[in-house]
Amino acid sequence: MTRARWWALAAVVVVVVLAVRYLVWLDVANRCVITIRPSLVGYDNRVVKLALETLRHGSPEDYRQVCVHVGTINPNPACGGFGGGCFWHGDGQKGRATIDVSTEHGLIWTTAIVVHETCHARQFHEGRPPGFDLEHECYNEDDRIMRALVQFE
Ligand SMILES: [Zn+2]
Repeated sequence: MTRARWWALAAVVVVVVLAVRYLVWLDVANRCVITIRPSLVGYDNRVVKLALETLRHGSPEDYRQVCVHVGTINPNPACGGFGGGCFWHGDGQKGRATIDVSTEHGLIWTTAIVVHETCHARQFHEGRPPGFDLEHECYNEDDRIMRALVQFE
């Protein structure tokens, strides 16, 4: 191998290691793979991984729901606005969904938003019509996980 090739290979390895560290949630034991978009506004997207870790230990059933219904988590506050999250509806979401999750209010809040948006993804996959009339169910879900997690702490 030439020196140039060696450096090219080293660069690829570094990029892959960083991508796995920051941009992919890889849980082989539970066959759960979730892409995490890079945070563009400086919020720490490792909080998303901590939130998934928290769910895995604190509420395995919620964690399983996330793995089934969510394929990508976007930590940038896009359509959810401040402190919130949102779930993108549409034909492109027939598979596992993309959810926006704001991380600016810390771990517990981030975890609750993940559960809330996963609830919307599940509703959508169950074929229910998108809309605010289904908000109630998802608020109950994030309320429940928030209480459960705060109790654990
Ligand atoms: Zn909602």
